[in-house]
Amino acid sequence: MRLADNVYALLDLAHPIGVNAGFVVTDEGVVIIDTGWTHSSALTILGFIETAAPGKPIKWIILTEHHSDHIFGAHVFKARGAQIIAHRHTKEFLESKGKDYVEEMIKSRNKLWQEMATMPQGYDFGRTFFQKVELVLPDRTIDEIIDIHVGGEELRLIPTPGHLTGCISVYLPQRKILFAGDTIYSGYSPTTRFGDERLWREWIRSLERLKELEIEVIVPGHGPLCDKSEIEKNLKYLAKLLEDESNDDEKRQR
Ligand SMILES: [Zn+2]
Repeated sequence: MRLADNVYALLDLAHPIGVNAGFVVTDEGVVIIDTGWTHSSALTILGFIETAAPGKPIKWIILTEHHSDHIFGAHVFKARGAQIIAHRHTKEFLESKGKDYVEEMIKSRNKLWQEMATMPQGYDFGRTFFQKVELVLPDRTIDEIIDIHVGGEELRLIPTPGHLTGCISVYLPQRKILFAGDTIYSGYSPTTRFGDERLWREWIRSLERLKELEIEVIVPGHGPLCDKSEIEKNLKYLAKLLEDESNDDEKRQR
């Protein structure tokens, strides 16, 4: 889907759950934001890039976090000469996991899908699903706001901890477009199970900061395109979650 002259979003890349990605075409080359969950998803993204910007090199891959649905396609673009940029915590996580991350995902998905009875016992769907995935590490890391200027385009990388400590959002000031990664969920509740109260409070601060930006379109990590009203919904959800937690703590103390 084309959001501006040179900015594209790929929504709901089909997996059992849909995940979003996008890319920006500049005079110097293409910048990709997130890479899908599988080798085939990455090839789908690549197909759109080759159609929208034939012959352009892929310069940068920006990973908005370390979860597999955002990063498992990265090897496809890395093999074509792209450099990967991510938060320092994303690199640390991937370094500590190494190749085990892919194996773990294969095993845990097989277990989950068998429990959900979506496939026969013993069928290694995880391996089929994640075949050809190779873990690749970021070439460059950030832990504060940085602006990347590439081929006349400005991309602002903003650390937005909350869903994970290493989340980043990508803002295009010239286009008023925000690629939020899993900092913003559109159409359903944010996934909070990877954090705790401290991180959820940081998430609220991250969303408050994003609210200050001039934004016309948000590409969330999951769900349809949205605008700032979705930020309010995410904020409300997190505030309620924190309130429920503190009520629980009070009850426990009594
Ligand atoms: Zn995630």
